[in-house]
Amino acid sequence: MFFVGYFLAALVVLAGCGTESNGARMVAAPEDTIPPVGAEPGVQSFPRNELMGKFDPLRHSDFVPVGRPFADRPGMLLRREAFEAFREMWEAARQDSVSLKIISSTRTFAQQKIIWERKWARLAADTPDPGARALKILEYSAMPGASRHHWGTDIDLNDLNNPSFEPGGVHSKVYDWMQKNAYRFGFCQPYTPKGAERPHGYNEEKWHWSYQPIAAPMLRQYARDIEDNQIVGFLGAETAGQIGIVGHYVLGINAVCKQ
Ligand SMILES: [Zn+2]
Repeated sequence: MFFVGYFLAALVVLAGCGTESNGARMVAAPEDTIPPVGAEPGVQSFPRNELMGKFDPLRHSDFVPVGRPFADRPGMLLRREAFEAFREMWEAARQDSVSLKIISSTRTFAQQKIIWERKWARLAADTPDPGARALKILEYSAMPGASRHHWGTDIDLNDLNNPSFEPGGVHSKVYDWMQKNAYRFGFCQPYTPKGAERPHGYNEEKWHWSYQPIAAPMLRQYARDIEDNQIVGFLGAETAGQIGIVGHYVLGINAVCKQ
């Protein structure tokens, strides 16, 4: 009943202005209170702007600062529940003499746009075809609006380099420990090696981990609410449809992380 009331109230407001805001979320906008069609009963619903990183996590009451010693620098944010789970995991790892260090966490659409467009410009001469250029960037970087880092549930740990986590690498103990223990704290690795079970999506990232209790329902909602033609607002966005960003990249993850 709570949502029904808000739904009706929001409909009246939307009917009045006839547009949907895509701007940064300063306060709860009317459309933010509309539960999406098909939302899972008992599961928190997330506004579309939030799924696409078009909000200010600094002003969002579900986000908390991370800081040292959990991160390598101040200024990072995560959803409260994800950070609490990480702290427990961090402490358990520490007791096993394993040092987990967050080097990237929540990123907004605007921040991802800077990363994407820098690569877009750098590859312009060598890869002039827009589709090929986007695919090249997508080996490791998400399109703005389609990154799991928008969600406040995903982190990069220790290093952005797979060999560092492999036998003989400086963080091989970190990866071994995470593979054995991360699931106990709700974390999973979305970008496992590509192959028959994961034919599409980003290349393997041994450093990227996701807090599944929130990220899995967010992913299902993303799949229901967002289509390729809504991934717009940056250089090369016109390639989103031909590449199939939602189907092949947002959903192209380790099946374990979808549960
Ligand atoms: Zn990452």
